[in-house]
Amino acid sequence: MKTCLVVDDSKVIRKVARHILEGLSFSVDEAGDGREALDRCQSSPPDVILLDWNMPVMSGIEFLRALGQTEIARRPKIVFCTTEDDVGHIRAAIDAGADEYMMKPFDRATIENKLQIVGVA
Ligand SMILES: [Mg+2]
Repeated sequence: MKTCLVVDDSKVIRKVARHILEGLSFSVDEAGDGREALDRCQSSPPDVILLDWNMPVMSGIEFLRALGQTEIARRPKIVFCTTEDDVGHIRAAIDAGADEYMMKPFDRATIENKLQIVGVA
């Protein structure tokens, strides 16, 4: 079973993403900020990460930069999740190591498509 870590400070968004991903036969884990996500990647890196931009403690972009400087057993694919307001940040996210991005609110078709693009569907 493929594993996905959903990183978002919104419990509602994590729940929606979990529901979609479980429907796509993923094993899902959740983190509420970048710091938690980094800890999770060090203990057991997932196949793919859905990563929010705005989060307390450690933001999505800070997470990407920190992950790039961290030794981990296996580098997860990363799909960066952004809103209309943050589209200007997409370049920065890709430069910092994101593989793909998608706009919020996302639906099942979008998630499935992005997972295929990064090669984990
Ligand atoms: Mg957020």
